[in-house]
Amino acid sequence: MASNLLLRSSSRLVGSCPWAQATQKSLTTSAVIKKDYVMADPLDHATGVEKFELLAKKEGNDDPFFLRSKPRGKGTKDDPTIVNALDTYRMVGCVCSKTDTNIKWMWLYENKPKRCECGYWFQLKAHPAPDRYKMPL
Ligand SMILES: [Zn+2]
Repeated sequence: MASNLLLRSSSRLVGSCPWAQATQKSLTTSAVIKKDYVMADPLDHATGVEKFELLAKKEGNDDPFFLRSKPRGKGTKDDPTIVNALDTYRMVGCVCSKTDTNIKWMWLYENKPKRCECGYWFQLKAHPAPDRYKMPL
């Protein structure tokens, strides 16, 4: 309230001067800049799957649903490339060579390692999926 009164009285003073417009504007913007505006935290507004993902990111897990692409590992039958999934099956795409312009897609099932056309082996590792009815609110 006191700062509001101060601004009014100073703007009246400035308004009577010939160079009033420029000075008056700078007073107004400086008052707005000094006010504390704070954006709301997205975590407070999010619910369900979005909040689950934000909480996982906060705990350090950037990919809780295994959506990011991964480079192939060694890919032998004894040491296959592990593919994480939230179910017992998942579709996997393999870019067999660097010069390929297409992706070879195949279904991968739990406990059934599979070999791509290029010779690399893949194996599915199933993780328990989060319960959709117990998502954070
Ligand atoms: Zn391949």
